[in-house]
Amino acid sequence: MSSSTTTLVTNIGSLVTNDTAHAESPTDNLGLIHDAAVLIDGDRIAWAGRAAAAPPADTAYDAKGRAVIPGFVDSHSHLVFAGDRTQEFNARMSGRAYSAGGIRTTVAATRAATDEALEANVTRYLREALRQGTTTFETKSGYGLTTHDEARALRIASRHTDEVTYLGAHIVSPDYADDPAAYVALVTGEMLDACAPHARWIDVFCEKGAFDGDQARAILTAGKARGLHPRIHANQLSHGPGVQLAAELDAASADHCTHLTDADVDALANSRTVATLLPGAEFSTRAAWPDARRLLDAGATVALSTDCNPGSSFTSSMPFCIALAVRDMGMTPDEAIWSATAGGAAALRRTDIGRVTPGARADLVLLDAPSHVHLAYRPGVPLVSEVWRGGVRTTGHAG
Ligand SMILES: [Zn+2]
Repeated sequence: MSSSTTTLVTNIGSLVTNDTAHAESPTDNLGLIHDAAVLIDGDRIAWAGRAAAAPPADTAYDAKGRAVIPGFVDSHSHLVFAGDRTQEFNARMSGRAYSAGGIRTTVAATRAATDEALEANVTRYLREALRQGTTTFETKSGYGLTTHDEARALRIASRHTDEVTYLGAHIVSPDYADDPAAYVALVTGEMLDACAPHARWIDVFCEKGAFDGDQARAILTAGKARGLHPRIHANQLSHGPGVQLAAELDAASADHCTHLTDADVDALANSRTVATLLPGAEFSTRAAWPDARRLLDAGATVALSTDCNPGSSFTSSMPFCIALAVRDMGMTPDEAIWSATAGGAAALRRTDIGRVTPGARADLVLLDAPSHVHLAYRPGVPLVSEVWRGGVRTTGHAG
């Protein structure tokens, strides 16, 4: 017998479960249930199904015919930073190209910030994301680039999420501009020793101007030896070895995937590595969109995330990313919702989030709309009305 309180969220017009047991056809990944209810027991989902068949509960919440979806899983963000890059954005929108170098501006501001200022920033953007329906997020270091500052970023991040990524290899530290090999030695040596206890993942920005394939392999392999699992910033600005390396090393995800060869697409389709697409970055840098349709048609698993960071994608909004993915990346509304929930969970190798199934964490989003399709159909509108995270209800924008 459970001692926790049970709540029945009922009168749900349409419920996205991401549970194929409820699928109406072999191509239905959303497991949509109409006239549905969800039983929450403590911090877990206890049951989901037709409202008419719902079990008894201690309390009830009336969804009034609106849509409920799983909480968003944002599997790629960079929230431990200080400063602002408004001027850079403004210049870019006036015609200047994006390169990896602008990261140095944020590195300088982050090093100069107090722990309290960094923590306050993380808290602020997390609250902002939660109001928009994000109930799980991954975040990274990568704006410190010294042993002290990278470890500090990870300690701060780990107070807010279990999904913490060591990204000492974001760019070569400006302090090592003349000796990148020495920086790789630091990232795989003393810095890794200081950072590994605070992180689950290790990441590399594998790109011209950042780290090449051999450097990325050395860094990720060193991280694996310390118990960190790889994920890679791959093929964002140009073709490169990142995606192939991700598949080779069984990375949980290859992130960006904007410039892919047929061999890259095949590698993703034939591996466990999730292709995480980050349309906020292409939006904010006026770059070519990744081709989600090509990846999906090849059989790759696709996740959608914000890439929230002050330089190239300063949005915490998963609904915004969904709208972009549907409008410009060839995804259907159903595919985009799946990728923003179950897809993100797959990119974090989690099965307890991103779905509304018995035993999953009770992370639900109530939309002020009759269907999940409205997230793409009504772009920019604050449709997130209520959010449950671990069974605790908070209020979204529309509440
Ligand atoms: Zn990123």
